[in-house]
Amino acid sequence: MLAQRMSLLSESGTAAAREAAKVAAAAGREIVDLAAGEVIIAPPKTVRDGAVAAIEAGINRYTDSIGLIPLREAVAVKLTASTHVNWTVDNVVITNGAKQALFDAMLAVVDPGDEVIIFKPCWPTLPSQVLLAGAKPVFVDVKGPTYIPTIESVRAAVTPKTKAIILNSPNNPTGAVYDRAALQAIGDLAIGYQLWIISDECYSSFVFNGHPHESIVTAHPGVRSRTVLVNAFSKELAITGWRLGYFAAPPDIVSAAKKLQSHTTSNANVIAQHAILHHLKVTDGVFEKGMFERLSRARTDGLAILARLADVPVPQAEGSFFFYLDLGKLLAKLPTRAPVKTVDDIARLLLEETGVASVAGSTFGDPTGLRLSFGAPPELLLPALEKLVGSLNALKSRQAAA
Ligand code: PLP
Repeated sequence: MLAQRMSLLSESGTAAAREAAKVAAAAGREIVDLAAGEVIIAPPKTVRDGAVAAIEAGINRYTDSIGLIPLREAVAVKLTASTHVNWTVDNVVITNGAKQALFDAMLAVVDPGDEVIIFKPCWPTLPSQVLLAGAKPVFVDVKGPTYIPTIESVRAAVTPKTKAIILNSPNNPTGAVYDRAALQAIGDLAIGYQLWIISDECYSSFVFNGHPHESIVTAHPGVRSRTVLVNAFSKELAITGWRLGYFAAPPDIVSAAKKLQSHTTSNANVIAQHAILHHLKVTDGVFEKGMFERLSRARTDGLAILARLADVPVPQAEGSFFFYLDLGKLLAKLPTRAPVKTVDDIARLLLEETGVASVAGSTFGDPTGLRLSFGAPPELLLPALEKLVGSLNALKSRQAAA
């Protein structure tokens, strides 16, 4: 018999969407994967060089469970520069990706029975981790086109059991970037009710609204003592499989993570740690700039194609690398007895008909959304979006005829 907690979880829905795409590809279909949560590009040479040098030097041993001190120092410097808040090595923990950083944070701050506020649509790992910690996710629905919660809706979700709020800006899946006023209002609320803020900022390198990313601790420095700021190198340096993330937090949380990681994973992979340390020492920022420019262009060109969709508003896509479509109006116009009724049906149809893999909003708790990654290679992305627009625009008439 499995532990009861396991029945509360399902496998990541994005993994399931990608699995369906793999099955179709294995059957000989040409598939364009717009379901992936990663930019399809080789990692920077500096990272690869750092890894090779560490391997050639025979580096092989455990590190401190929360990471190499020079790497923690380098991350503290990087975060101090990007947040304009001072962090030291004592605030930083190196983790196996942002995922472990989030889970450390969750286990460190919540007790069984506590409630944690999550904005929905949400990346499905967030509520799953709350459940794994024995706590209860409390969802606050956010709506397009901005997908930013009103402070009234957040306040209405607070109860005496609320322990934390999870923020994710830039957001997966919606592409929302919270503005300063929203961050400050959430910060005030967290202080007023003495809540923790777990701020997942792992798409911080990808903000396309003309401003640099703003962390909640920058917008509202008063929350720093109650914030766990989570980030990773996974997306920023296109090394999702290398598993290297981090968080910055008050020293109590760092001590808790030290215990947790010492009993679960020990340290993050030592070669990856050295590779990133080397990168941080020598990078001239050219890779990061190139990646940003590629995504910016893909976003602009992709939005121009998506603007031709009928009955689907053009997404704002201010941050991360996702176009998040709201298909509510389109679904409402389909005949009630048509074979395609849900976003899952639409994601399946698109895969079958156009070979485009997407992620249905149901994965994120949203019955009308559809997520498309613009991290795919541009030469594949744009034709795929053209086909998708053609297929969705034809849907109403074909369903009526069916
Ligand atoms: N947070 C969000 C919002 C994500 O979308 C992802 C990955 O898709 C992660 C965290 C996990 O990042 P990592 O691969 O660094 O564990």
